[in-house]
Amino acid sequence: MIAERETTAARRCYDLDPALRALAACDDRGVPLAGRDAETAALRRAGARNPSLGRIFEGHLNGVQLVARCGTPEQRAAASDDIASGRLFGVWNTHDEDDRLRIERHAGGLRLRGGKTWASGAGSIGRPIVTGAWPDGSVQMIVLRMDEIAARIDPSEWRPLGMHDSDSFRVGFDGVVVESRDLLGAPGEYERQPWFLGGALRFAAVQTGIVERLYAASVAYLCERGRAEDAFQTARVAEMKIALHTAGHWLAVGAAAWRAFDAEPTDASAAELLDVVDMARTVVERVALDVIERAVRSVGARGLIEPAPFAGLVRDLQMYLRQPAPDAALLRVGRAAFAASGGPHPAAPFARI
Ligand SMILES: Cc1cc2nc3c(=O)[nH]c(=O)nc-3n(C[C@H](O)[C@H](O)[C@H](O)COP(=O)(O)OP(=O)(O)OC[C@H]3O[C@@H](n4cnc5c(N)ncnc54)[C@H](O)[C@@H]3O)c2cc1C
Repeated sequence: MIAERETTAARRCYDLDPALRALAACDDRGVPLAGRDAETAALRRAGARNPSLGRIFEGHLNGVQLVARCGTPEQRAAASDDIASGRLFGVWNTHDEDDRLRIERHAGGLRLRGGKTWASGAGSIGRPIVTGAWPDGSVQMIVLRMDEIAARIDPSEWRPLGMHDSDSFRVGFDGVVVESRDLLGAPGEYERQPWFLGGALRFAAVQTGIVERLYAASVAYLCERGRAEDAFQTARVAEMKIALHTAGHWLAVGAAAWRAFDAEPTDASAAELLDVVDMARTVVERVALDVIERAVRSVGARGLIEPAPFAGLVRDLQMYLRQPAPDAALLRVGRAAFAASGGPHPAAPFARI
């Protein structure tokens, strides 16, 4: 079991306020009851408040929506009870490259072998959804009850550039018994589109929240130091402000594409949603890198000494910007452009590299 001191910071920042928790409520298609804009705004707020909190909240929403969309009535009811009693969900998909999570048949039952890396909130999240491979290679979601199983949480290699408080540890599940009521959805359901790739809008919203905090802190710092009149500083603040607004506009476009798909889930609205979200996450990454550069130049070396917030925010943002397969997202955007013009690439909106 993980030592208490190692999860204290995580527990503190995962103490989601009731307003954030309420935003997890969704219908049985996983559509947030508060609406897509409210979801995006909440993720942004969580990221601005604390980047690691934003990461945990993003995983919580993802997990709750997966159970709502793919779960049986019994699994949905159990999830409602879990949420009501304050348990957090999460999604641990990233496999341990040396020891992938597998589901093995054993004496008439099912057992897990292998583990997960990048398991955010390990030690604090009560109901992670993990993905494991059946013997035929197909991928199955499993809802785990961490309080009832003997998982081995290993924080020893978690020494990241930033996002330290997200506690994204390695977790081993060797020998954990799985019951049929723990299996969530059919094999392959986790990567079903447009939910899988379209979900990137959630992390783009958290990233935008962190950018917003960095921007606001930079403006305040320049004012405090009496540097608000300087033309270069003013120009950098203007560029940061424009970049932040750009990210905000793309989040709104992404939320609108989700709304259009929710209202009319067709192949066309799914393809449009994926294209828009791929563009949005690409823009938000660029925006964040641009704002980091300007914030660091503006506050200078003195500003990068803690307890000033800049060093921590920059580290967290640089780390959290590293999300899965950014090159593939850009490639899909380009391919969709050629396909729309009748060019060389056949329309393959769900293609992965
Ligand atoms: C703070 C934090 C918390 C996280 N929490 C979770 C969590 O709770 N659950 C979870 O499942 N995951 C989590 N992740 C993991 C995350 O979802 C990604 O899997 C991980 O960030 C990707 O790591 P990477 O950048 O090393 O990936 P890589 O895929 O190795 O990407 C690195 C670079 O290689 C490129 N690339 C990718 N594939 C190829 C290829 N085949 N050939 C050539 N180039 C390639 C990419 O475009 C990129 O430029 C978390 C990540 C962070 C940063």
